[in-house]
Amino acid sequence: MKIHIQVIRALQDNYCYLIWREGSGLCAVVDPSEAGPIEDALSKLGLKLALILNTHHHHDHVGGNASLVKAWQPDVYCSAVDAKRIPDASRGLVDGETFEFDGIGFKTLSIPGHTHGQIAFLIHEAKAIFVGDTLFSMGCGRLFEGTPEQMWRSLNRILSLPQDFQIYFGHEYTERNGAFARNLEPDNMAIVARLRETRESLSMGRPPSAPTISDEMKVNPFLRARSASIRRTLSMPNASDVEVFASLRRLRDEFRG
Ligand code: ZN
Ligand code: FE
Repeated sequence: MKIHIQVIRALQDNYCYLIWREGSGLCAVVDPSEAGPIEDALSKLGLKLALILNTHHHHDHVGGNASLVKAWQPDVYCSAVDAKRIPDASRGLVDGETFEFDGIGFKTLSIPGHTHGQIAFLIHEAKAIFVGDTLFSMGCGRLFEGTPEQMWRSLNRILSLPQDFQIYFGHEYTERNGAFARNLEPDNMAIVARLRETRESLSMGRPPSAPTISDEMKVNPFLRARSASIRRTLSMPNASDVEVFASLRRLRDEFRG
């Protein structure tokens, strides 16, 4: 059974995702930032919206909920932690909870750090994980409500999944993140290649393809706290991984490159 995942761009730089089973007329949407681009895609594809999945409560991930709920009456699933602060939430999910939508099996993974309630949605059959603002291409989310320890643990939960899972990010931030990553590891050619591929896709009006976990491990400094070259650059040869991660996050917050 083929599962379709369609990327939709919204607001300045947000990514939303439509998910549906081949041959079905129903779909789910992950993080509808605003209703307009979702409605356009639904009518183009001839799909009915039956489920909204929100990875966390920030406005740029739930901004389309109210109007989409009015138009389609979908269920709205999010973390139980966020159920009271996400508009129209109909079900709060706990860590590891599984559910089925139109024959597609989902699992939730609690990954706090960016916010307390941040969760990821996994589809084993599609080898896909939707991570919201926890990870980006060559970057990671800011720590608005969590500690570096929490975020580091969350990133490692993602890394412990099968390495061929593809990561679907909440934003397109490759350019800025890539500049930061290159500064840290000027000799890492995988970073240069990621930047080039992303620019090519975007210039042709296509979203870049979702990288696998093993691809992302090669380029994302926040997943590379163990890297000898990064530790050398930071002069932190003997620090713990989470100390290196915390220092990277601080540097990224200050980065103006
Ligand atoms: Zn956010
Ligand atoms: Fe966001």
